[in-house]
Amino acid sequence: MSRATGAVINLSALRHNLQRVRELAPQARIMAVVKANAYGHGIVPVARALSAADAFAVACLEEALEIRHAGLAHPIVLLEGVFSAVELEEAAHNGCEVVVHDAGQLALLEGSRLQHTLSVWLKVNSGMHRLGFPPSQTRGLWERLGKARAVRSPVRLMTHLACADETANPRTRLQLEIFAAATAGIHTERSIANSAGILAWPDSHADWVRPGILLYGVSPFTGRCGAQEGLVPAMTMSTTLISVQQVSKGEAVGYGGAWVAPEDMYIGIAAIGYGDGYPRHAPNGTPVLVNGLRASLAGRVSMDMIAVDLRGLPHTQVGDSVVLWGPELPVEEIARAAGTIPYELLCGVTQRVKFGVVEENTISARSAAGAHG
Ligand SMILES: *Cc1c(COP(=O)(O)O)cnc(C)c1O
Repeated sequence: MSRATGAVINLSALRHNLQRVRELAPQARIMAVVKANAYGHGIVPVARALSAADAFAVACLEEALEIRHAGLAHPIVLLEGVFSAVELEEAAHNGCEVVVHDAGQLALLEGSRLQHTLSVWLKVNSGMHRLGFPPSQTRGLWERLGKARAVRSPVRLMTHLACADETANPRTRLQLEIFAAATAGIHTERSIANSAGILAWPDSHADWVRPGILLYGVSPFTGRCGAQEGLVPAMTMSTTLISVQQVSKGEAVGYGGAWVAPEDMYIGIAAIGYGDGYPRHAPNGTPVLVNGLRASLAGRVSMDMIAVDLRGLPHTQVGDSVVLWGPELPVEEIARAAGTIPYELLCGVTQRVKFGVVEENTISARSAAGAHG
């Protein structure tokens, strides 16, 4: 036996969540966002499970090549575009589509004498002020790009929403209006919506949606969780207890003695810590599941271990299962406790964690069906 700390990825959950996106945006095609190693889930198994998607989207060429080398022939969009002429050549050669968001990338495309042409997404800055050209330049740039030899026509249009997860925030409506005005009369496909746009802003669906976090079964909205959106969390992060300690009232547990036993009791030590990607800022009281029952964190998260308050769980012993997040314990809840977002927790699972996949997780599929209906 080795250290049991592992992340199991439920492939049927990924497929279910993709289907859920189809229901939510039935008119749109789906660009499945699998950047950052598929939000920490493993890019190759995730892309294979999501092969019903119409395209994939990643942050960089290296990520795209992992998908290609796994034998998948889908279009792959580079959301940040390319960083050099060499990359442009390689992107085209590997059937990637590139976002063009600045003058340097425009010059690369216009100066290129590629053997293969490639598809391009012109990125418009409709108000997020992260990437993209000013809305007023849209028409002119779209025409210029359409004339570049390396570029396959028609050039498509993209923008990104800054506040779509805040359903009452007027900025999203404003961004949609700015994008609509900037692109009016241009005959081509458009893409606007991330996960929050798909759920909360039907007007943002356009021709292509770009779900990321939804595919992994997680809600983009603070205060909600995936099951409430009809999703099934794809990752279960778990480990086992490697020690059970008897502590007396007044004894302090862990680094800094940050937790003091309020009575004579048992503490379980679980083999997971920030070296595995469990958040060090998770405070006392953060929930964990021990043998499927709720227990709570006691004291500071160490690199390799956490301590768990075992009061109310009398028959616990070394080897018992500890779940840190999964269908029965939403990662959203852990993120909130630790002052972060689920995206960061999922992306932050480290190399040391053993990854496995399962085809089906019947318990969670049932609970999602319940949440759905
Ligand atoms: C990451 C990303 C997405 C996906 O965002 P989610 O909130 O995970 O759905 C979509 N579009 C762009 C441009 C992105 O960078």
